[in-house]
Amino acid sequence: MDKNAKILRTNAKISLLENEILYENTSGKDLKSLIEELSTYQIELEHQNQELLASQEKLLLVSDTYIDLFENAPIGYIIVDTENGINKINKTAYKLLYEGNDTIYCSKFTQLIHPDDQSEYYLYFKSLIKGTPKEYCDLRLFTNNHKTYFYARICGNRQIDSTEQNAEFRLAISDISTEKELELNLIKAKEKAEENDNLKSVFLANMSHEIRTPMNGIIGFTDLLKDPYLSSETRNSYLEIIENSGNRLLDLINELIEISKIEAGQMQANLIPTNITSLLDELHKFFTPEAHKKNITLIIENHLKKSEAKLLTDKDKLYAILVNLTKNSLKYSNAGTIKIGVYKSGPNLKFYVKDTGIGIPKEKKHIIFQRFRQVEETAFHEGTGLGLCIAKALVELLGGTIGFMSLCKKGSTFYFTIPNKKIEIKKVVSIKNNDNAPYLENYEIVIAEDDHYSRMLIDELLRQSKAKTYLVENGVELMSLLEKVNPNLILLDINMPFKNGYECIEEIRKIGIKTKIIAVTAYALNEEKEKILGLGCDGYLAKPFKKQELLSEIEKQI
Ligand code: ADP
Repeated sequence: MDKNAKILRTNAKISLLENEILYENTSGKDLKSLIEELSTYQIELEHQNQELLASQEKLLLVSDTYIDLFENAPIGYIIVDTENGINKINKTAYKLLYEGNDTIYCSKFTQLIHPDDQSEYYLYFKSLIKGTPKEYCDLRLFTNNHKTYFYARICGNRQIDSTEQNAEFRLAISDISTEKELELNLIKAKEKAEENDNLKSVFLANMSHEIRTPMNGIIGFTDLLKDPYLSSETRNSYLEIIENSGNRLLDLINELIEISKIEAGQMQANLIPTNITSLLDELHKFFTPEAHKKNITLIIENHLKKSEAKLLTDKDKLYAILVNLTKNSLKYSNAGTIKIGVYKSGPNLKFYVKDTGIGIPKEKKHIIFQRFRQVEETAFHEGTGLGLCIAKALVELLGGTIGFMSLCKKGSTFYFTIPNKKIEIKKVVSIKNNDNAPYLENYEIVIAEDDHYSRMLIDELLRQSKAKTYLVENGVELMSLLEKVNPNLILLDINMPFKNGYECIEEIRKIGIKTKIIAVTAYALNEEKEKILGLGCDGYLAKPFKKQELLSEIEKQI
């Protein structure tokens, strides 16, 4: 009999005596039956004891299982009191909250919560105390000595064994940083998509506006031109409107081509000797009529010495940047002055275009270099929102930087730098500005062009030159014509049916015809030009072209 059983036996005897179950004068018979009953009782007790021991063992096992589950759960658990003091913490939570926190140990859970999320947590904890908790609460928890934080989801429960006076709560903590990052990225992507959608609508509306307005001018005034009784003055003014509208359309197309080249990373700088003084004079000449119309004074402030004004850069791109900025200054000013200047600034030249126009509001300053973005995006106004984006890309291509200062209703100053690469200009190429057609009386020129109007236009432009022209509509016709005639020049469109321009050049050179060929094409990209010239073409002219450009190209070749 073990110790516990002995104690039980003694206690039972005492209890028997106290309850007068054992009497001093009890007879032997009674005693016998009593002993029998007691033995039965004892056996019963022993059975119960065994059951109790088994239950205790089970309980120990369950408790071990619970501890194992608690400690090694993939989720962090902490048990806190009503003041958020941490009474118990499992391994996972310890790892999440304290790993790296070697100098700070926070005994209160709230010390680990990001200040911006404290009130959110207090609300949640209050609901937990009240017994009506929300499902979870997301917040940022500090780790690594408060240097970094992670996103955590907290799910709380009142501990089942906790009393009213000593209430305890079990908080399950899971690291949701990855999900949160995904969610934040999704939100950003959604906002970007909405913004793009909005931009697309603005862009389409703008494009429609930008195409329809000049088209309206072209179609409307062409119709008016049909009136045979128009005075020559009125006729000329109509023609000027048509020309301006056409140029505006061309600007739009050029801007779109430029932006697609920028986006495709196909833009290249073509460095040539450039005279800044002549460039600024050209700019002044070009914009003066428009400035006069708006009563704006256009001033060139050239602070360069004669010798400093010559450098190596991409002249066309530099001109395009200045044109863009000046155009904007004119567009966004109603009167006042526009100053276009340049001065030496360390190893660079610094250009500026300063106006006294409407200025740019502070809150819009960050968008104006973005493509398709405009300060005024709700109402239509002339422009596509591409000019500054193109100007910035061009400046960067030339190795400089661009920026601006602006005050609302006071004006804006756009400035940019380009590296001052010195050169010795040995030869200044003068561009002939001869409007007269070259005298080509004994020359034969083939015009291979599938578009009826373009064919007519070239023929018309060559009429004065007295050259004999042959007109063909496609590559096949051209090749059969070349079997019969031996012209001095072929003006060749590239995009033609049956046999395109590339095929014609190849075939012509293959069969040994040496006739000069000028490609006249609407493929205005640089790589196209290189491809065409590489195939054996002698010259290249991008559509649309001016009469003078066609004639100088022809002059160059023959
Ligand atoms: P847009 O074709 O609309 O002129 P830009 O890219 O050239 O496109 O310019 C973007 C926007 O920046 C313009 O829509 C305009 O709101 C603003 N902006 C540019 N230049 C000026 C300027 N000189 N003065 C005031 N606002 C300007």
